Amino acid sequence: MNVVYEPRGRAREYSELACNLYLGCTHGCRYCYAPACMRTTGDEWHAKCKPRNDILRLLDKDARRLHGDQRFILFSFLSDPYQPLERTERLTRQALEIMAKHRLNNQVLTKGDADLILEDMELMKLARTQLGVTLCFVDDDTRRQWEPRASTVDDRLTILKKAHKAGIFTWVSLEPVINPEQALEVIRLANPYVNFWKIGKLNHMKEHEQLVDWEKFVDDVEDLLIKLKSQFYIKKDLRRFSKQFRDENKKVEQTDGKKLVKAANAA
Ligand code: SF4
Repeated sequence: MNVVYEPRGRAREYSELACNLYLGCTHGCRYCYAPACMRTTGDEWHAKCKPRNDILRLLDKDARRLHGDQRFILFSFLSDPYQPLERTERLTRQALEIMAKHRLNNQVLTKGDADLILEDMELMKLARTQLGVTLCFVDDDTRRQWEPRASTVDDRLTILKKAHKAGIFTWVSLEPVINPEQALEVIRLANPYVNFWKIGKLNHMKEHEQLVDWEKFVDDVEDLLIKLKSQFYIKKDLRRFSKQFRDENKKVEQTDGKKLVKAANAA
């Protein structure tokens, strides 16, 4: 069984390869998509977490198979690699050691605690890990409403600052955007310590999605990131609200409209 897999759909915009070390995730984010992917309920998925059976041996086997592959392996989509269980299991630490041993490109995406992650900083340098932090809010009360058992906003800023200072490539997953003002403030605040931004909208939560003016947000966020000379990627779901996308679509509609009039006149 391969434990390094090729994600599909929206996840592929994050990484060409991924690996999940744990089953379950106790951070309990309200917007979590993992239970739907795993065909279970949020209550079930967020209640407990356990290591995947034999995961490190299987990862090592896959790492040999992937020797020379330049694609990045992401830890992890369906559970946080630095959730509380990592304190005792140290699966992520061992997974990064495997990455270093086989010289494979790798990235981490986490909302874990700063003290735990900072312990692996030297290893991340050795493994050339790109360290990603999810950061969607500047206000910790709002963060707690949406990501109740994940780390605080301050913790995540500390991780980015220290990792950046240590020479580690840092990136932020600003997804899902829920509060546009806070999302823009996250960028203003963290930009000096962030090498790359990935921005994505909230999905599958209609009652909250409709509260956001996505056309305004995508134009604002793009203007800000360009002004700050930042490197960034706006995910397709959000990109389709952008001015450029709207203008291109308008052109296509106008062209189609003219063709229709021409065809009607010729008939
Ligand atoms: S950290 Fe990720 S996997 Fe864990 S609950 Fe939050 S969204 Fe789900």
